Amino acid sequence: MNPRHRCACAYFVAGFLPIAFVWCVGVLSLEAAEQADFVLTGGRIVTLDARGTIATAIAVRNERIIHVGSDDAAMAMVGPNTTVYAAAGRTVIPGLNETHVHPTLAARSECTLPFRQLGSIEEIKSWVRDRVAETPEASWVVLPRIDVTRIREGRMPDRADLDAAAPDRPAAFVWRYANREVQVLNSPALRCAGIGRDTVVPDGGRIVMDQRGEPTGRIENAPSLTATWLQQAEPSQEDYRGVLEDLLQRYSRLGITSVTDRRTDAEGWRTYNDLHSLKRLPVRTTLTIFVDADGSVADTERFIRGLPCGPGDGNHWVKTGPLKIGVDGGVLYGTSYLRDPYGPNAFKLYGLDDPQYRGLLQMTPEQVTNVIRTGHRLHWPMCAHVTGDAGVDMVLDAVEAADRDSPIAFRRFTLLHAYFPNEDTAVRCARLGVCVDTQPAWYYKDGDALAGALGGLRMSRFIGLNVWREAGVTVAINSDHFLGIDPLLSLNPYNPFLTMATAITRKTAAGRVFGADQRVTREEALRMMTVDAAKLHSDDTLKGTLEVGRLGDLAVLSDDFFSCPEESIPKIYSVLTVVGGQVVHREGGL
Ligand SMILES: [Zn+2]
Repeated sequence: MNPRHRCACAYFVAGFLPIAFVWCVGVLSLEAAEQADFVLTGGRIVTLDARGTIATAIAVRNERIIHVGSDDAAMAMVGPNTTVYAAAGRTVIPGLNETHVHPTLAARSECTLPFRQLGSIEEIKSWVRDRVAETPEASWVVLPRIDVTRIREGRMPDRADLDAAAPDRPAAFVWRYANREVQVLNSPALRCAGIGRDTVVPDGGRIVMDQRGEPTGRIENAPSLTATWLQQAEPSQEDYRGVLEDLLQRYSRLGITSVTDRRTDAEGWRTYNDLHSLKRLPVRTTLTIFVDADGSVADTERFIRGLPCGPGDGNHWVKTGPLKIGVDGGVLYGTSYLRDPYGPNAFKLYGLDDPQYRGLLQMTPEQVTNVIRTGHRLHWPMCAHVTGDAGVDMVLDAVEAADRDSPIAFRRFTLLHAYFPNEDTAVRCARLGVCVDTQPAWYYKDGDALAGALGGLRMSRFIGLNVWREAGVTVAINSDHFLGIDPLLSLNPYNPFLTMATAITRKTAAGRVFGADQRVTREEALRMMTVDAAKLHSDDTLKGTLEVGRLGDLAVLSDDFFSCPEESIPKIYSVLTVVGGQVVHREGGL
């Protein structure tokens, strides 16, 4: 086990003990029932309640808030076992609710191929050179995932790049997304795998050839040709759990108190429940379970009935959320399913050549309708990965069909991504109670590269939060973090303050602004990571505001989110994170 992980675990276990800078005061005259587990005084507590209350003190008992108001009243609730924290004027917010992350996927992947964001062809070459030098015993050098929008040159590495960095060692770049895979192999890799001009191509695959009829090194949808060398080792349970705990603890440091794992399975359900029973889970977790079925009604029903958990099972720490389907591709890869063709400006970035190309679907309209209607009939809330506007049209057709079977609005069907909103779509969503879960950090990271390919009109609405909000649609903003463990250098950066800053400024990494009318206020951004985020899983009577009766989840911030300069917002972090009255993170360690 990596010592870094063991260290983080030890800190976390210690977090359930009273902490050093906190003082405990015995008030013997108090009845036990009135004593709080946690009391915070002297804060600027932004409650986000309906009256916009700003309080100075809060008290939590048995996970629930029992007081929000004055310091004196809170101090009267201090008993011998109360953890007391003096906030010294700092801003306190409801705990952040990150409704789209992939911690189990990121942890598993980090164990076998640690993620590193490579930003240029030169960085890619030097990473390969370093790996060749550092791992003389390994056979193939395999690059971490790279998205073309995040490469300075606006292109993927090719065979010549990999040959220059690894002339004598097989090297491969593999890009996989849903039902599409691209591999780039260097010359030693082609030789090792025996791929030449006469290689038989598997069904549906393609070996791209040059004018002389020799392989260029690019192979599409033919994983069997290299499977022997590219198989990823399964990490040990100990390593996997260690990285997962470390990652969840990193979320806590940023004030995140609830997450939604947006693609997991029965194994994920067991893992999170184990962590919770061992008291090693620092964030409340809602699980999204991917429907692993063939799109027919019968197979969907078979899958759902075979799950070890039912809709809404669990508790306030680990619970099931919606079932998930994957409908189209991604905007970083030119596979979002759009109403209008991508057009010639997008050809270079995405490697396209068909003027009528509109993107790719993973499911037929009939399959989408089958799964959504079946899930709804079996009482599950549902969500769909869908990035393009035509994909969203297709999903809403299916949601309408399910709504005709029985009303669906109360289940809060959620569109994941939905990057190109239209007024007509937003009105349709509002009518069906459909919510949106979307990722401003993609605008920040990819907006500059996408602008040339997608054009100004599309970019002005790309992740256009106000199109949804003005129609009355509930929107949650989040990161879609799925590789790496660093808050800013991961794919995608999961720092919630970067997410909120991008929603507020609509500035790309290069400082450009597309669609200034889609900017939101600081309070609106915070609401989309607290109150509105809680609505997606019907948790809005439990989380998202600091009011008596709600769960005692909060974060004390390093800077004032509401008055600091805009450029300082992404630098904010939590100095104290509390979940249900338990301190799970304190600046400098627990
Ligand atoms: Zn995702």
